[in-house]
Amino acid sequence: MSQVSCPVSIEFFPPKSPEGAAKLRGVRQALYVLKPEFCSVTYGAGGSTQDGTFTAVRDIIAEGQQAASHMSCIGATKASMRANLAQLKAMGVKRIVALRGDLPSGYGAGGEFTHASDLVAFIREETGDDFHIEVAAYPEIHPQAKSPEADLQALVTKARAGANSAITQYFFNSDAYFKFVEEADAKGVHIPIVPGIMPITSSTQLLRFSDACGAEIPRWIRLRLQSYGDDTASIKAFGLDVVTDLCEQLRVCGAPALHFYSMNQSEPILEISKRLGLLDA
Ligand code: FAD
Repeated sequence: MSQVSCPVSIEFFPPKSPEGAAKLRGVRQALYVLKPEFCSVTYGAGGSTQDGTFTAVRDIIAEGQQAASHMSCIGATKASMRANLAQLKAMGVKRIVALRGDLPSGYGAGGEFTHASDLVAFIREETGDDFHIEVAAYPEIHPQAKSPEADLQALVTKARAGANSAITQYFFNSDAYFKFVEEADAKGVHIPIVPGIMPITSSTQLLRFSDACGAEIPRWIRLRLQSYGDDTASIKAFGLDVVTDLCEQLRVCGAPALHFYSMNQSEPILEISKRLGLLDA
């Protein structure tokens, strides 16, 4: 296997209980062996996980790692976002993943931001270059996009508003990613676009998630997963093969880094990294 060096970053979600927080601490420690460029923590739309997000971010910094806080702006006011930025700065956070977010149905939109690009512009206006700003990108097109062209334009707008880099929604078809990067480049988007990698560990969870976020599960993967039924060992073994091959194609063909969606688990990422030769022997 070729040995192309490849920076990684790792995403966590805020734990819901003290037991979850303790478990996550162990997961993070296990993953630090990868020397991640940064570890990010998701943020529930409407600020629903704000305390948990900021606590996990604080823990990551205390563990000596670079942390990125996600921030979603839908339904938020400028005053609340200003307060968040001040808090993150005081915590020593240098990186933000700036998102629109999705409000649960029935939740009035309200708020002073419409698109993630509004949040990127706001962060730049308020804090200059204090933060490295990441934004989301969708090689297989965001489910609410008016058209593929409009969705690409949304990334152009986020880059022009001051985003430093982008992380993609996960995908299993590397052609979609490389085509997207090429088209973004042709539109003048020269920031790194880092592929988001979702390890496959559960068939039902992946199929449910993917329907909601617009990530396509290729037919051959979907049918193989369905054929394993409850046989989790086979699902995991197949998932490791598929995702390792995807990562290998991505890095050999020039992806700038890999961003792992950990789902707060260490084993799949460690095994994929081992197979990719990213771990010291
Ligand atoms: P936007 O960039 O605003 O795009 C949303 C939609 O609006 C797209 O369809 C786009 O085409 C369209 N659009 C954008 N700008 C315009 C415009 N000017 N005019 C017309 N249409 C426009 N969600 C969370 O709640 N918390 C998280 O922590 C979180 N982390 C994520 C991390 C990554 C790496 C990714 C890929 C997604 C994450 N999400 C998270 C999910 C994300 O919030 C949803 O996908 C959401 O629906 C869109 O957010 P966005 O930032 O891409 O929005």
